[in-house]
Amino acid sequence: MRVLITGGAGFLGSHLCDRFLAEGHTVIAMDNLITGSTDNIAHLVGNERFSYIKHDVTNYIFLDGPIDAILHFASPASPVDYLELPIQTLKVGALGTHKVLGLAKAKGARFLLASTSEVYGDPQVHPQEESYYGHVNPIGPRGVYDEAKRFAEAITMAYNRYHGVDTRIVRIFNTYGERMRLRDGRVVPNFIQQALRGEPLTVYGDGAQTRSFQYVADLVEGVYRLLLSDEVEPVNIGNPGEFTIRQFAEMINEITGNKAGIVAKDMRTQDDPQVRQPDITKARRILGWEPQVDVEAGLRRTIPWFREELIRRGELS
Ligand code: UDP
Repeated sequence: MRVLITGGAGFLGSHLCDRFLAEGHTVIAMDNLITGSTDNIAHLVGNERFSYIKHDVTNYIFLDGPIDAILHFASPASPVDYLELPIQTLKVGALGTHKVLGLAKAKGARFLLASTSEVYGDPQVHPQEESYYGHVNPIGPRGVYDEAKRFAEAITMAYNRYHGVDTRIVRIFNTYGERMRLRDGRVVPNFIQQALRGEPLTVYGDGAQTRSFQYVADLVEGVYRLLLSDEVEPVNIGNPGEFTIRQFAEMINEITGNKAGIVAKDMRTQDDPQVRQPDITKARRILGWEPQVDVEAGLRRTIPWFREELIRRGELS
C-alpha cells in the first residue's frame, strides 16, 4: 500500500510510519511541525519507501499518484498544547479532517481517524464503552479538542454514508512511550523527567483521578488491525489497567528509585476527567486485539529513552 500518515512526525504518527514501513508499505508522512518534530523521523531518511512533506492539513492537500490508505493523526494531543493552541486544535480536527477526507474520496483511499477517549469527556459511565455518548463541556478549555474530535467523527461518518468513503475510527486512550515530546505537559513525560532529576512528582489535585495507560506498541498494533478490518464504527484502543494518578506517581518513583516523593499542585484543568478506563470488549471481539505490555514493563522501556534524551540535550548528566 501507499499510505499517507498526517501528523507523521509526531509521537504516534512516527511509530506508525515505522510499522507501515516494516510491513513493506510505502509511507508519506505529512506534518506542520507545530507539535511534531523531524527528530522523530530522522532515522527514516534514506529509506526509499519513505518521504516527508511539511504541510498544514487545514490547507488544501495536493498529492501526486495513488494513495491506498490515509491515517489522520495530525493534532495537538496534550491538554497543555491544546490550551496553548486552541484555534489550531479546532482547525485541524474540523477543517483538517475535512481536507483529508476530501483527499481520501478523490484517491479512493481507506481513511482512519485518530479519535480519542476525550470524546467521552468527564464520563458518567465507567468503564467507557463505544456506545456511550459522553459528557463533554463544549465551552470549557478542553472543549476545543473534545468537540473538534467529535466533529471529526461526525464528518468521517458523513463521508462514509454520503460519499461511500471506506472509513475507520479509533478512540485512543492515554498512550505513552518513546518519542513523547519532553515538554508536552502530560503526566507521563512530567513524572518521568521529575523522577530522573530526583525531584518530587507534581500530582495535580488530590491525585484520586484515574487514568489507564497504554504502551505505544500496543496502540500501533490495534490501529494496524483496525485499518485492515472492516469495522466502520468507533473502536476503543487502550489498556484497561486503571490507576489513580497518585498510585501512578508512586510506581514511577519506585521504578526509578526516586526518593523525592510527591508534591500536590493545584493545577488540574477545568473538566479534567475524574475517571477514565477503556472497555475493550469490542476490540477483543472484532480485532482479536488486547494489550500485551503492562504498565510497569512499558515504563521500563520508556524511562531509558527519556534518560538518553535528557542526556543528549545536556539536561541530565
Ligand atoms: N497530571 C498530574 N501531574 C502532572 C501532569 C498531569 O497529576 O504533572 C494529571 C492531570 O491532572 C490528569 C492526569 O494527570 O488528571 C492525566 O493528565 P494528562 O495531561 O497526561 O492527560 P489527560 O489524560 O488529562 O488528557
